[in-house]
Amino acid sequence: MAILSEDPERSRRARARTCRPCSLCCSVLRVDELDKRAGTDCVHQRGEAGCAIHDSRPRVCRAYRCLWLQGGLEDEERPDQTGGVVDLEPMGGGVQLAIRVADLGTFDDSPMLQAIAARYRTQMPVRVTDVRDIMNPDRPFRVLLAEDVEHRVEGEWIEVLRAGNLVERRRMSWAERWARRASIWWRNLRLR
Ligand code: SF4
Ligand code: SF4
Repeated sequence: MAILSEDPERSRRARARTCRPCSLCCSVLRVDELDKRAGTDCVHQRGEAGCAIHDSRPRVCRAYRCLWLQGGLEDEERPDQTGGVVDLEPMGGGVQLAIRVADLGTFDDSPMLQAIAARYRTQMPVRVTDVRDIMNPDRPFRVLLAEDVEHRVEGEWIEVLRAGNLVERRRMSWAERWARRASIWWRNLRLR
């Protein structure tokens, strides 16, 4: 898969990049060590000045590197410019591109996020989620697939669109519902 392959240019970009002035992941992602929910600003965020506790920040903050910081996206696609934090994540036996935005409308308003999704969706699912209503397990999300197919998921229901047109609306299969409920149970356990 060419888009995933390590190449010298990607490595060079990764070495040359630093986060500042971006701090979008400090708002969008969860930090359990700080009891910080996804979608809320971290109390240690200092805007373009970065992290107020940089030298003693939690291990998860030290370890985290979004796809842009790893050199996997173009220079101009830094998260604070696109509006979304982008990662490659394992999914089943494969991998998916995860785009996390503060609000689902952000994706529709960001030509750069749409361009990133278009590059990747031919090779892997692209999952677009928002963190606005993070405690709601039924909150909607979208999965963009090859051949202009999109799944819009809300609760246990899936709308299948092709080229933007609704072609099917169905309830998840028994196995999908079971997997979803197990995932919600596990997530609630971690958030307790
Ligand atoms: S979203 Fe990426 S570039 Fe921005 S602060 Fe986080 S790791 Fe750095
Ligand atoms: S502790 Fe620092 S690096 Fe971690 S989320 Fe907060 S501001 Fe970001």
